Amino acid sequence: KSYPSASKLLLLSTFSGGGLLVYSDSNPLKRTLTADGQQIKKKKVVVLGSGWSGYSFLSYLNNPNYDVQVVSPRNFFLFTPLLPSVTNGTVEARSIVEPIRGLMRKKGFEYTEAECVKIDATNKKIHCRSKDGSSVKETKEFDMDYDILVIAVGAKPNTFNTPGVEENAYFLKEAEDALKIRQTVINCFERASLPELTEEERKKILHFVVVGGGPTGVEFSAELHDFLVEDVAKIYPKVQEFTRITLLEAGNHILNMFDKRITAFAEEKFQRDGIDLKTKNMVVGVTADEISTKEIATGKIVSEPYGMVVWSTGIGIRPVIKEFMHQIGQGQRRVLATDEWLRVEGCDSVYALGDTATINQRRVMEDIAAIFSKADKAETGKLNKKEFKNVVKDICQRYPQVDLYLKKKKLRNIANLLKSANGDDTEVNIETFKQALSEVDTQMKNLPATAQVASQQGKYLAKCFNKMEKCEKKPEGPLRFRGEGRHRFQPFRYRHFGSFAPLGGEQTAAELPGDWVSIGHSSQWLWYSVYASKLVSWRTKSLVVSDWVRRFIFGRDSSSI
Ligand code: FAD
Repeated sequence: KSYPSASKLLLLSTFSGGGLLVYSDSNPLKRTLTADGQQIKKKKVVVLGSGWSGYSFLSYLNNPNYDVQVVSPRNFFLFTPLLPSVTNGTVEARSIVEPIRGLMRKKGFEYTEAECVKIDATNKKIHCRSKDGSSVKETKEFDMDYDILVIAVGAKPNTFNTPGVEENAYFLKEAEDALKIRQTVINCFERASLPELTEEERKKILHFVVVGGGPTGVEFSAELHDFLVEDVAKIYPKVQEFTRITLLEAGNHILNMFDKRITAFAEEKFQRDGIDLKTKNMVVGVTADEISTKEIATGKIVSEPYGMVVWSTGIGIRPVIKEFMHQIGQGQRRVLATDEWLRVEGCDSVYALGDTATINQRRVMEDIAAIFSKADKAETGKLNKKEFKNVVKDICQRYPQVDLYLKKKKLRNIANLLKSANGDDTEVNIETFKQALSEVDTQMKNLPATAQVASQQGKYLAKCFNKMEKCEKKPEGPLRFRGEGRHRFQPFRYRHFGSFAPLGGEQTAAELPGDWVSIGHSSQWLWYSVYASKLVSWRTKSLVVSDWVRRFIFGRDSSSI
């Protein structure tokens, strides 16, 4: 317990000779008693965000010595992996959200529904703005101080400043976005079913364009296709022939972060399904009626009419974080940098988790160089196979992103590179290996921006905070890797449990640890069970499972509310 119960107060009062114990702070929740009965002011931990990383941090945090205040414009946690299923009614939006207030009550934390608009790291303050409600249009602004700040605000969709995207395209990031898409898809069908429209007009209205061939864009296209084939064909038989889905991707392939076998399968399946897949095409502008794309090879620009555009090309930094980065000398960087303990570089007592931050790559490369110089045979500049394996093992243990990268097909590439550079593979030239690593630099750069990373980071940080006092008393933690100094905690290590790419038609591609790839109906069942088990409460689990059953029996709901 962080504060004395009535019986403890009575006991203390008796032992103190009947003298009444009075708290100097007006709120006893903000104070705690040490083992020897001394009062100390609790440290105020302000957590920004109630998404994957913030919710995971709060769920695992069990330290009564912290006064925890959560600030987020969203008073619920959103299970984003099922968001594409909300866009066509396979799953209801309410089934994948968990109200944050329940967790707050259970843990004794406080919650404020507001958005942080400025972080003042020098004075340890944040400036917040309340959300405007439906009846209350006025927003309220206020300051909040902190001892420790945990930034878990996620990211915003990245438009790459493409003209017209903000105004005309739909995004798929929040529950509201998915609901808007659902309504718009149905509205398109209702509009296309109006009398006296020309064929061209119907074709335009029913042309759905998805921009971005990453997991979200692909999953949304697949969901939309399923909806058209399984439900729309029955509900709107007269206009079904005019529908078209176009998936645009600037790179050479869709799902390029997945194994090549998955990419190839997905591309073939989409072609078979009649999804118009256009790779090597970059969107250069979106107007209210047309989307313009540039063919990368030829530079040719083509404009096409559309009914709805869904933009899913990755994530960018939120303005509040951008401003904060300028303040702390990280203005030149693209993403907020932390060290391996998730502490924001360049300021004190601020941590950052999830999509909003990245572990500093410079440090990774420096450390890799240090491992090499430790193992370096200065005279020969070469390592034998055993030494090479040890170096790689060492790097992989410290840097999960490198581990992930090397484990996935790339180790083969590096081995080939070395072979071609050295002529043989019995001895490894250190310089060549370093070059090979820098060639794969972009892929190694960041941990993927996924819920898996975010929730593991939240759990890691909460566990550090739970042990903080014990470790402060006994600071000799594990040897810190970079030579001098020790750190109280092991650095954050990411464990990859695999990824899924639902491809529609009850087929999913799964890439699991150990280079194991499975595609098809069996993986779809694995997907159902993994996602059902990962939902954060029994309430959401039962709602989602009943939504799936409802869809199997009755089909999707096509009302536009
Ligand atoms: P978020 O979960 O986005 O949470 C950010 C929180 O911060 C929110 O509560 C938000 O309201 C709050 N916030 C925003 N601005 C402020 C502010 N100024 N002040 C205070 N609070 C603020 N990942 C997977 O691993 N597997 C998947 O299958 C998968 N599917 C996805 C499908 C979709 C459609 C999307 C959009 C993402 C998917 N992801 C998936 C990625 C995953 O959702 C993100 O990586 C994850 O949400 C990142 O967690 P986070 O805590 O950093 O941010």
